[in-house]
Amino acid sequence: MKNIFYSVFVGLFLMVSCQSEPRKIVPEVPLVAVPAKVVAPKKVAADAATILSKKEVPILCYHNIRDFSASASGNIKVYTVKPPAFAQQMKALADAGYETILPEQLYNYLVFDGPLPAKPIMITFDDTREEQFSIGAAEMKKYGFKGVFFIMTVSINRPGYMSKEQIKTLSDDGHVVGAHTWDHHMVTKYAGDDWNTQLVKPKAKLEEIIGKPVTDFAYPFGLWNTAAIPEIKKSDYKMGYILSTKRDSVDPLYTIRRIIVSGTWSTDGMMRSIDSSFK
Ligand SMILES: [Zn+2]
Repeated sequence: MKNIFYSVFVGLFLMVSCQSEPRKIVPEVPLVAVPAKVVAPKKVAADAATILSKKEVPILCYHNIRDFSASASGNIKVYTVKPPAFAQQMKALADAGYETILPEQLYNYLVFDGPLPAKPIMITFDDTREEQFSIGAAEMKKYGFKGVFFIMTVSINRPGYMSKEQIKTLSDDGHVVGAHTWDHHMVTKYAGDDWNTQLVKPKAKLEEIIGKPVTDFAYPFGLWNTAAIPEIKKSDYKMGYILSTKRDSVDPLYTIRRIIVSGTWSTDGMMRSIDSSFK
């Protein structure tokens, strides 16, 4: 009798328990609507003729930023801008409303018709000089400018040149680090393993330093030929930068034009060259 009473009691208790449990609703359709997969329209890359027909973005090329005497050689004067002149040039660009762009934006503009600021400009530095970091980047910072630093890897950590840490800092600060070969030999002379030494290894080394892909390459002395372009593509660079000579009709992305800002130029002269050199 006691057992039956106990069983009924437990049974009632279980019934009550079961009823008090919230009813689980199993929806027949998912409660959260899953949007139909949106496929972005495939962007069509511009062909060479279209790229060549676009208005060029002015690109400046700097080397040394330091003082030089009136008796310095012509070469030094061309490749060196005095620190006060560099400061004045950055101010003039900012006052004129220029905004710096970086390679990714240039690529998207040239290939996919991406947007640009009203007055775009790119500021680049070749050859790894230390003052590009201590003076160049510091002056640019006053105006929110970002630049592209083409590094020849043989010079890293040498006296007068940037250290690994400085290169990493530039990258972390939003500047772009590009490759400028291992030891500045011109690409028109490469044979055999030179391509690996000058194009592949420096890219890997820079990527190891900055922890980001390196996609831009500047030709030493701005010298290039059509034989070099397939090798540069194969080495996984997206763009190649020359100086103020004519672009290649087939591969304009591997012959992006720049002008060297000469130490003999006035700031006004530089501003005029920006207008006259890029069509
Ligand atoms: Zn160089």
